Amino acid sequence: MIDPFGRHITYLRVSVTDRCDFRCVYCMAEDMAFLPKAEVLTLEELDRAAGAFVRMGVRKLRLTGGEPLVRRNVMSLIRALGRHLTTGDLDELTITTNGSQLGRYAGELKAAGMRRINVSLDTLDPAKFTAITRWGKLDQVLDGLRAAKDAGLEIKINTVALKGVNDDELDRLVAWCGERGFDQTLIEVMPMGEIGEGARLEQYLPLSVVRAKLKSKWTLDETDYRTGGPARYYVVRETGRRLGFITPLTHNFCESCNRVRLTCTGTLYMCLGQQDAADLRAPLRASESDAPMEEAIREAIARKPKGHDFVIDRRHPAPAVPRHMSVTGG
Ligand code: SAM
Ligand code: SF4
Repeated sequence: MIDPFGRHITYLRVSVTDRCDFRCVYCMAEDMAFLPKAEVLTLEELDRAAGAFVRMGVRKLRLTGGEPLVRRNVMSLIRALGRHLTTGDLDELTITTNGSQLGRYAGELKAAGMRRINVSLDTLDPAKFTAITRWGKLDQVLDGLRAAKDAGLEIKINTVALKGVNDDELDRLVAWCGERGFDQTLIEVMPMGEIGEGARLEQYLPLSVVRAKLKSKWTLDETDYRTGGPARYYVVRETGRRLGFITPLTHNFCESCNRVRLTCTGTLYMCLGQQDAADLRAPLRASESDAPMEEAIREAIARKPKGHDFVIDRRHPAPAVPRHMSVTGG
């Protein structure tokens, strides 16, 4: 699959549920309305849709959400998708999780063929953790991380930089990840979905500022390591671990975009920061053959936009797109 700008689409992210056991303040409003079941693809339908993408050239698959590990029976989907690793049609199967269920599932994820996982963690302070996630318990996530490490999974920590919330802790988090052998990616808050008036502007902390501050303490060696994604990576010389910066607002990364995103309702978003989407659920449910869905995928890729235009400032207080991050999973 090649889009109009010559970009090869080899990476699919699948949001397997819009539900979550947390309510992170930058991701969701407190009173979220979740999707009725009939609109959500079954696990078998998700498997079929992902299989079509793999046939069409996708080499990397990431499950996300909402919280992917709270979807009932999600392991049956993960095990089924693992078959594409065995056949060699897929290079990587992975997940982005808040870590709350890893204590239970880490071993099974490894057994299904996952090698590396991303776990979101914005703070090491239990009270702050509960304040950010509204519902979460830090200990549960730390236990989950231990289980994942014991299972032999490589771990990358995702940390959203939040002004006045965890900016004083980022330095400590870099050290903490270094001690445990975790890579880390820092993420700028993105203007997705309504979360309360003015909240986003209050949260937004440009990573250019964070990087300059970290550089006074750590030696950040530039690398050309790329995952095809939006992060620019450094190696922290003192810990030997990678540190990535995802800067959609201070640095536009769209020129190397290799990915598309499928939601749990079968809607395909060609860009995280744009509204245009293609419905794959109708062609998927209309026919036992995958041909109509594959045709819809081809049409969608043919109109993948050049990029997003996220802005957060006083003149643009509204979200750039109305959907929350939990719809597409980042
Ligand atoms: N629940 C899983 C988790 O938290 O890792 C997967 C889904 S979550 C939507 C994926 C990533 O998006 C997390 O690392 C989260 O911190 C990040 N995220 C959520 N809302 C965001 C926003 N508005 N701006 C930037 N990152 C966001
Ligand atoms: Fe849930 Fe992840 Fe969104 Fe937090 S960031 S509310 S854990 S989906």
